[in-house]
Amino acid sequence: MIYLDHNATAPVKPEVMTEMLRVMTIGGNPSSVHAVGRKAMTMLEDSRETIARVVNCRPEQIIFTSGGTEANNIAIMAAKMDHIIIAATEHDSILHMAEHFRGRLDILAVDDKGYVSADELKKLLTKASGKILVSIMLANNETGVIQDIRTLAAIAHNAGALFHSDAVQALGKIPVDFQDSGVDMMSFSAHKISGPQGVGLLVASEDIPIHALFAGGGQEKGRRAGTENLAGIAGFAKAVSLLAQNLQTMTINKKFRDRIEQEISHHAAEVVFYGAQSNRLPNTTTILMPGVASETQVMAFDLDGICVSSGAACSSGKVKPSHVVSAMGASRDQALSTIRVSLGWTTTEDDINRFIAAWIKLYERKRK
Ligand code: PLP
Repeated sequence: MIYLDHNATAPVKPEVMTEMLRVMTIGGNPSSVHAVGRKAMTMLEDSRETIARVVNCRPEQIIFTSGGTEANNIAIMAAKMDHIIIAATEHDSILHMAEHFRGRLDILAVDDKGYVSADELKKLLTKASGKILVSIMLANNETGVIQDIRTLAAIAHNAGALFHSDAVQALGKIPVDFQDSGVDMMSFSAHKISGPQGVGLLVASEDIPIHALFAGGGQEKGRRAGTENLAGIAGFAKAVSLLAQNLQTMTINKKFRDRIEQEISHHAAEVVFYGAQSNRLPNTTTILMPGVASETQVMAFDLDGICVSSGAACSSGKVKPSHVVSAMGASRDQALSTIRVSLGWTTTEDDINRFIAAWIKLYERKRK
């Protein structure tokens, strides 16, 4: 199979598997006071330090979670805010959690390039009151569009608001620096950077009171109950320590991605690449094949041995148009006819040639 779905999950690197096996073999619960527990605690804290060094935060600011979803849920709910402002293109783990939020919720529109407007944010903040949280993702999972979070965080701070950013898709694809970005909280997930699934973290400034969402033990300084996923966390730290490799891969991925877009648009003038005019992740392209349902495209590519993702989301048997490209102005039909192609460390030139040939073959077949 040709795997072009790295934004869904990136294949785990062999070094990560070796490290996880090593840690599982040692075993131990970091909360146990005996020698094996103390060893486990050392491995946990070593992992925390490795990650803190790379993302440039303090180790104490890291709260390990079960993934990016939980990290985002904690950011939205655990600081007990009065008012939340989020972007329309956020991941479902922000959007759906915000639906459960009891305070005031505002959703910031994006323009046709996928950017939130700094002026709109300022306007909303002048009308806001109480404890305010602004949550805007660093890079979008479908289009790869990158927001200027440093500027947006400064605007939020001027209005006395806290700022959270979901950096799950950005890590490993562009440089990410917690301190330098000026945000108060940031979410990450291991499986998007070739680490294991089911592990993530929230970086949160120590002055933000985080109330644990689960009741239980006092792990993670009382901010997240439950025995830590030690092997997963060690695998996460190993994947983080290999991030420099990922960034090098991105230079090659960008060339591949640009070739896909050039060759396809050369062949089909009506094609649209959402976010192509924006600052975006180097590995991602979201392609509209007009009139051909995303699901049909995904199945056709699958038959050709190529894994890509549907822009539209399928839940309970119903296909919903992509909320991301809809927010960028796509019609319902367009939002139901996009696919996401995302490259990574396993991607080869041959994969790209085969994808381009398969896309053109499908397009020609549907045109007839
Ligand atoms: N945020 C973004 C932008 C994502 O792309 C994802 C995963 O698709 C998540 C959050 C959720 O992360 P996880 O799968 O680790 O729960």
